[in-house]
Amino acid sequence: MEKKKRIVIALGGNALGNTLPEQMQAVKITARAIVDLIQEGCEVVVAHGNGPQVGMINNAMAALSRENPNQPNTPLSVCVAMSQAYIGYDLQNALREELYNRGIFDMPVATMITQIRVDPEDPAFQSPSKPIGHFMTAEQAKEAEEKYGYVMKEDAGRGYRRVVASPKPVEIIEIGAIRSLVESGQLVIACGGGGIPVTLQGNHLKGASAVIDKDFVSNLLAQELDADFLIILTAVEKVAVNFGKPDEKWIDDMNCDKARQYISEGHFAPGSMLPKVEAAVAFAESGENRTSLITLLEKAKDGILGKTGTRIHQA
Ligand code: ADP
Ligand code: MG
Repeated sequence: MEKKKRIVIALGGNALGNTLPEQMQAVKITARAIVDLIQEGCEVVVAHGNGPQVGMINNAMAALSRENPNQPNTPLSVCVAMSQAYIGYDLQNALREELYNRGIFDMPVATMITQIRVDPEDPAFQSPSKPIGHFMTAEQAKEAEEKYGYVMKEDAGRGYRRVVASPKPVEIIEIGAIRSLVESGQLVIACGGGGIPVTLQGNHLKGASAVIDKDFVSNLLAQELDADFLIILTAVEKVAVNFGKPDEKWIDDMNCDKARQYISEGHFAPGSMLPKVEAAVAFAESGENRTSLITLLEKAKDGILGKTGTRIHQA
C-alpha cells in the first residue's frame, strides 16, 4: 500500500468564527473540510489560530480582575492555554461527529496542549505586531491605550486592534507526544493559537507575554513531523499579486524564488498574507517533495487534488 500523504493544516480565523456560538457552527464546516482530506487517504494533523478568541479571553479575564481586586491579572500565556483548550474542545467534538457521520469509528481525536519555546531576546518582544481581539473604532482604540496601556494598531483597513509581541517559534516542547499520537493513527489538534509561548529558565518553562503566529508554528510542526504538505486554510481561494488593485492577479503556482520576489515587492500584507507566504516558503524549502498550499477552507479537497489554491514549491 502506498504511504499516506501527511498533511499539516493551519486553520485561520474564519474556520473558527468570532464568538462562542459562531465557533460551534464554524467548526462543523471546518470538520467537513478536514474529514474530506482524511477520506482522500491523507493523514491529517491540525493546527489553528486564536486571534479573536485569545483577545476575548484576555478581555474577560481583565474584566474579572477589575471587578475583584483579589483576582490578579491573567498572563497572556495562560489566555493562550485557555484558547487552546476551548477551541480544541469544539474542534475535537465536531471532528468526532463528522468522522462518525461518515462511518469512520476507529480514529480517535485528541487535542494536545502545546508549549512553544521562544527566544527571550527575540526582537519581536520590543515591537508588538500581532493583532488580537475584536476590531475597534479610533476612539475606542485611544481609550484602550489610555486605560489599559494596550498597544493599538490599524489592521488592513478594517479598524483598530490590540497588538502584542509575536516572537518566532523555536521548539515544540510536546513534539514527542504529538508524534506518538500521529504515528498511532490519531487525529491530532496541536499548536493551537500558535502554541503557548514559553522561555527556558533551567528546568522551568516560563510563560511569555506574546502570541505566536500560527502560520509559522505550523511550518515548524510540518517540518518536525516530516509532512508532505503544509496547507494553510484561510478566507481567500488563492494568493494574489497586486491584491485589491485593478491589475490584481491570482497565483496558481510559484516557486520559492518567485515568492521571495513578490514578498520583497510588498505584495503580501504583514500580519495577514505575508506570514502565510513566508511559512509556505520555509516549509517548501525545508526538504525534497515538500509542498505548501494556501487556499480557502471549503476548497481544501479541491486544493489537495490540484484543482485550486496557490501552490508553493521548492524549484
Ligand atoms: P487567517 O485568519 O486565515 O490567518 P488573515 O485575515 O490573517 O486570515 O489573512 C488572510 C487575508 O489576507 C485575506 O482574507 C486577504 O484579505 C488578505 N490578503 C492580504 N494580502 C493578500 C494577497 N496578496 N493575496 C490574497 N489575500 C491577501
Ligand atoms: Mg492571520
